[in-house]
Amino acid sequence: AQNGSVRKRGPNILVTGTPGTGKTTTSSALAEATQLRHIIIGDLVKEKNLHDGWDDELDCYVINEDLVCDELEDLMEEGGNIVDYHGCDFFPERWFDRVVVLQTDNTVLYDRLSRRGYTGSKLSNNIECEIFQVLLQEAKESYPEDIVVALKSDTIEDISRNVASLTDWVGSWHPAS
Ligand code: ADP
Ligand code: MN
Repeated sequence: AQNGSVRKRGPNILVTGTPGTGKTTTSSALAEATQLRHIIIGDLVKEKNLHDGWDDELDCYVINEDLVCDELEDLMEEGGNIVDYHGCDFFPERWFDRVVVLQTDNTVLYDRLSRRGYTGSKLSNNIECEIFQVLLQEAKESYPEDIVVALKSDTIEDISRNVASLTDWVGSWHPAS
């Protein structure tokens, strides 16, 4: 079967964006409002060892994309997932019904990431990633144009509005036949 036809639990939504744009905050609130399952890829990678060790330079695990995809295949087929990750080009295109790219003003993002303890090149690389809209580019190259949506995430009000509109979208979603 193709696309939505097998997703009994509901649609699959990918929430992506530069670190600090609010993926986890937004996804948690959306999961609470919709009862969809929130999958934080970074946590899953750590818990299930789906990585090839630690990258000292980038200060993060080297994610093993094949292991992550194998781990998630059954859940994604079942449907009803919110996948939370700062990348999107290695997931199968058929998994997602909606791809949300969160975007934050770069001075706002700078403060958020500094507060998180990011400094030096880790901080500047992420700000650059946001300025050049790397995740929006990646999403547009990896998924059909009509399922990709960019949402502003500068303020708490933005989060409320984004969660409300995505909750409406989930409520009106029907499996493709
Ligand atoms: P991500 O998962 O994309 O790295 P988080 O959801 O962890 O981002 O958010 C990072 C920090 O920024 C958190 O302290 C969160 O409360 C704050 N934050 C995220 N989005 C917003 C927003 N739209 N308005 C205000 N604060 C936000
Ligand atoms: Mn997060």
